[in-house]
Amino acid sequence: MRLPEGKEPAAVAPEKLAVQVARRIVDEIIERQWPIGEVLGSETALREHFGVSRSILREAIRVLEHSRVVQMRQGPGGGLVVGTPDPTPAIRGVVIYLEYAGATVEQVVHARFVFERMAIAAVSESLTESGVQELRSSASGEDGRLPENFHIALGRLSGNPVLELYIDILVRLTAAYTHRARGIAGNTEEEGCAAARQHLAIAESIVAGASSRAQSDLVTHLDRAATWLSGLVHPQPGESTAIGPMDLDPDEWPRERKLAGSVAGRIRDDIVSEGRYVGEVLGSEADFVSRYGVSRSVFRESIRILEHYSVARMRRGPGGGLVVLEPDPTSSIRTIALYLDFRGVTVEHLRAVREEVELGCLTAAMRSGMLDKAELWGDRQRRDSKAGRCSTCLRDRVATLSGDPVLMLFRSVLATLWDEYGTGRRPSDPCRSTDQTPDDRAELDAIVDAMVAGDEGLAQFRMRRHLREHPGW
Ligand SMILES: [Zn+2]
Ligand SMILES: [Zn+2]
Repeated sequence: MRLPEGKEPAAVAPEKLAVQVARRIVDEIIERQWPIGEVLGSETALREHFGVSRSILREAIRVLEHSRVVQMRQGPGGGLVVGTPDPTPAIRGVVIYLEYAGATVEQVVHARFVFERMAIAAVSESLTESGVQELRSSASGEDGRLPENFHIALGRLSGNPVLELYIDILVRLTAAYTHRARGIAGNTEEEGCAAARQHLAIAESIVAGASSRAQSDLVTHLDRAATWLSGLVHPQPGESTAIGPMDLDPDEWPRERKLAGSVAGRIRDDIVSEGRYVGEVLGSEADFVSRYGVSRSVFRESIRILEHYSVARMRRGPGGGLVVLEPDPTSSIRTIALYLDFRGVTVEHLRAVREEVELGCLTAAMRSGMLDKAELWGDRQRRDSKAGRCSTCLRDRVATLSGDPVLMLFRSVLATLWDEYGTGRRPSDPCRSTDQTPDDRAELDAIVDAMVAGDEGLAQFRMRRHLREHPGW
């Protein structure tokens, strides 16, 4: 499967004024190093500061409130308060997008192999007494959570927030596919007591310091689930399917959360679970107001949130109503990058994950079919925007050729972090960047040669060495 040209989630898209204001608020919060609980200013002060109307400011704030970055507190001493960001809405947006993009069971499970093996290595390096407890209780199910949470615990204990988040996304996507498969085959692999035994064996190997055994047991464990799933689920790009609720944790949408946010969540869940199509008109404002039993203003507020996450939009006029939008992960990617910045992600965290993502793209591109040099460097005759001779251009091409929506999306998250949150800056025109050296060119040619020759091991070796020697993006 390949996404159509230009379908790779862009790190940057044209912005509305409210989005720009939201970003300036975020910049300020980052600059002040997330002073949680601090008041950034009253509504009046902020309007003056940003030079925008009340409605623009409110729109900007609404979007940030939905991911809990800020909260508007009313009354004396009130104002815009810095909060603790919650990545849940963005993670759900990404899961919906990946399913829509047709991520296959093989692609999802392959990504899980890569990142969960990495997590096991990291957990083994830095396991603490309390980590042992957490690992054992999630493996045995004593923590009262679903078996999938063992995998999420591995991510959490790795100490790398990027890894933790990627594993979270992949486990939810697997759960969505499992939900679909269960509709066909009844019980699931992960539900069986075999899965629990395997989790315990993996946990005990990690505790005993046998991380290689833990890694190979994990591969066997995931392989079993993958074989079961891939026989039943065949995702197609653009397919709109009933994937069911994605709550691994029923407390994810607490009741006290602002009403508009929870209405937005319910509308999105309904669109997904009822298998609505892109472009389908779901009903009028009046229909929804009575269906969800909320006021017109709450409904309108929830629609702005859904529009922001590219879920649905209100179309005016005859034949109008709430229209399902094509899933677009741009806003979710930004929110995730912001959340990772809040979690204190370091350049080392990013580089470790980036290496796996780039090598994964390289392998997938090589396995997608015969490659030639012109394809890898892009076709400059056609004024291909990605045709260039630098490292960034080459790796962008390889990612597109991989046709793997999971890896492409994870790459966009890394690129956004690199660009926007002080982790580093990608040169705006990498081909003309002063960072480029002649030996860089020779290295890139050598990578391309190995790829064209179909020598996967050598191509991987050269790419890995190239990435380690050039710490920039
Ligand atoms: Zn499992
Ligand atoms: Zn370039």
